[in-house]
Amino acid sequence: MEIAPLSDWLPVQRQPLLISGPCGAETRDQVLETARLLKQHTSLCLFRAGIWKPRTRPNAFEGVGETGLEWLKEVQALGLKTTTEVANAQHTELALKHGVDVLWIGARTTVNPFSVQEIADVLKGVDIPVMIKNPIHADLQLWLGAIERVANSGVKKLAAIHRGFHVYGKTKYRNKPMWQVPIELRTHLPQLPIICDPSHISGKRELIASVAQKALDLGMDGLMIESHIHPDKALSDAQQQLTPEALGQLISQLVIRSGSVQNPFLIDKLMALRNAIDEIDEDILNTLKRRVQVIEDMGLYKKEHGIQIFQLERWQEILRTRSQLAEKLGLSRQHIEKLCQLLHEESIRIQNEVMNTKLEEGK
Ligand code: PEP
Ligand code: MN
Repeated sequence: MEIAPLSDWLPVQRQPLLISGPCGAETRDQVLETARLLKQHTSLCLFRAGIWKPRTRPNAFEGVGETGLEWLKEVQALGLKTTTEVANAQHTELALKHGVDVLWIGARTTVNPFSVQEIADVLKGVDIPVMIKNPIHADLQLWLGAIERVANSGVKKLAAIHRGFHVYGKTKYRNKPMWQVPIELRTHLPQLPIICDPSHISGKRELIASVAQKALDLGMDGLMIESHIHPDKALSDAQQQLTPEALGQLISQLVIRSGSVQNPFLIDKLMALRNAIDEIDEDILNTLKRRVQVIEDMGLYKKEHGIQIFQLERWQEILRTRSQLAEKLGLSRQHIEKLCQLLHEESIRIQNEVMNTKLEEGK
């Protein structure tokens, strides 16, 4: 696959390479004022704004559509390059017609090879940079497939955007970073620039700085962070947008390791592995939390029905089935038996506590 260097289409000397702008273009004033303030407070490389917004549930703000493309022309008049999301052939034709500088394919589109192909077909013979977000779930093949479809149309100015992955259940992130996935992408396509999107990973302002720093430490080539003149009033993704001024401050506090942009191979393998362990441990703790909640419900149920807390057969069954599974998974049987013992002790302690609390409450 032929991939042009990022410096062919973005000013990479501005570090970190920053893409910003509102989640969605809402009004002409909001777009132009955000762009003006971004110019004032940051060294922006590319102005983003969603013109068509893919929303999970209906009856939410779905973007202003074609009119917004006119506002992007006015942003260009301020001396900024622009980018917007395209999700089908029609969006792509309109974005090209209105001279948007760079296109991006969103996470909900990357999952669908039909839609990606439709966009790729419109791009045949067109020299426009395209950034491809990872699919919503952690499927590297699907991400690679979308990149290949666009590349097969002759597009050489390509980049990937890492925006995290949806996982079922509660996590501290809106979309888990799973850093090992973009790192694996890099091993497949070492020349492909990867931009991190801390806004969609974090889902909330407080986490954006730490995610952005981690992305830079891992050698990612740039950041896409959403900004809005009045973040709390944003019609989409309000909690993960910053004012241009706050964004400027955040960026100035990031530590930039020299060389990461010039050398895409500079990923610290140990750091990547440690990140993977951090995420796995977080999963384990979240699962333990769910286990505790079920145990509490069980304690209550036993209390209400006069059932004893400890039942020998149940404990033996737990030990037997978990040891069998451990063996099947190639885990140390001894280690898992020890772990079961610990979990069981804690389960008894919690159920005792539930019973006593309820007794006291009943007094
Ligand atoms: C966006 O960038 O506003 C967006 C909709 O992102 P994603 O496709 O990553 O959800
Ligand atoms: Mn958004």
